[in-house]
Amino acid sequence: MYKQFGITDETNKLAKEVEEEVQSIFQQIDEICEYNSIKVLNAFQNNNISDIHFGSTSGYGYNDIGRDTIEKVFSEVLKAEDSLVRGQFISGTHALTVALFAFLRPGDTMLSINGKPYDTLDEVIGLVDNASSLKSYGINYEQIDLIDNDFNYDEIKRTLKNKKIKLIEIQRSKGYANRKSISIEKVEKVIKTIREIDKNVIIMIDNCYCEFVGKKEPLEVGADIIVGSLIKNLGGGLAPNGAYIAGRKDLVALAAERLTVPGEGKEVGPTLNINKSILQGLFFAPSVVASSLKTAVFTSRILEKLGYKTEPKYNEKRVDIVQTIEFGNSKDLIKYCQGIQKGSPVDSNAMPEPWDMPGYTDKVIMAAGSFTQGSSIELSCDGPIRPPYLAFQQGGLTFEYGKLGVLKAVQNIIKK
Ligand SMILES: *Cc1c(COP(=O)(O)O)cnc(C)c1O
Repeated sequence: MYKQFGITDETNKLAKEVEEEVQSIFQQIDEICEYNSIKVLNAFQNNNISDIHFGSTSGYGYNDIGRDTIEKVFSEVLKAEDSLVRGQFISGTHALTVALFAFLRPGDTMLSINGKPYDTLDEVIGLVDNASSLKSYGINYEQIDLIDNDFNYDEIKRTLKNKKIKLIEIQRSKGYANRKSISIEKVEKVIKTIREIDKNVIIMIDNCYCEFVGKKEPLEVGADIIVGSLIKNLGGGLAPNGAYIAGRKDLVALAAERLTVPGEGKEVGPTLNINKSILQGLFFAPSVVASSLKTAVFTSRILEKLGYKTEPKYNEKRVDIVQTIEFGNSKDLIKYCQGIQKGSPVDSNAMPEPWDMPGYTDKVIMAAGSFTQGSSIELSCDGPIRPPYLAFQQGGLTFEYGKLGVLKAVQNIIKK
């Protein structure tokens, strides 16, 4: 079977070795999965999830009991006062954008304390010219870079003492930056420091790719608001689209009025038959995240054995589901991504090529043979074509499929 799939005996032997080496790490992942599963199950039971919540509304979407209850379930899981969980968000970037436009007013300043945010926010903030950017409304942007993968505490304190900052953004996952993702412990520590100086600044976390990787989410360590995508971790591979904004009730209300209409806020928004998929997706999410983590650990170890630099290392504590592999040249990066595509269940015969994607500055190659377009909780791998030629791989709905996809990619770079 492996041979038919295009995996040689040698590669298969290497895979078996790796799988044996990582068993104790897999056990830790399973333990966290069980913990988060209890969280989800409790939230379902406490909110009496029932068949009526799988129903749907159209048009304005008034009185959608499923939607309203889904938001209660998400709030409980994320320890939020309130949340906005909507299919009207077309992506994580859209939810981040809605949040920023909802909280900031002309003359306000937002501050990123982990360097430049995710590439798709460039035009939102106005780092790249756009007539609809925050900058075009007179909203200022400042950033403080990380030093040695940690926050620059001195600079953060100095800035907060000298300037009025309205909102601080912390992006935990690395995006396309060559840095480590930010642990919940580091988030907790920096929030304490921020609060010693400024009690009111809005602390917003881009939580994409981090949900259910550990036992705690950022609202539990003092963040005001968190944002994430449903075609990543919390959608469990089943949510057909959407994103969430969760946290302080007053902020969620502002975000709702920006997403829909001032005066209507959370009261409207048709669910168009996605309620059941969102609930079932959240139900599967702890386990799907665990599968993604196992796929990432396996990838890190097998590519390390093949001589590539990987981040995180296979035995490092993980913050998100993203695995970086440094290829050092564009050819191997492209080959690897093409191999991931070949190992996918959908569009396996498509050949991804680097191209200019809207929202990104460099050419990007994206491999994704996913059931849901752009879903990156499904095995996917992408990388901007720029030195040091990093591949950012994430997802894997089951470990078995994740592993098979990775083996296909490994085979594709070996046989070059
Ligand atoms: C994926 C991601 C986003 C949002 O991306 P979308 O593709 O718009 O959902 C934002 N920030 C980070 C760190 C991400 O990984």
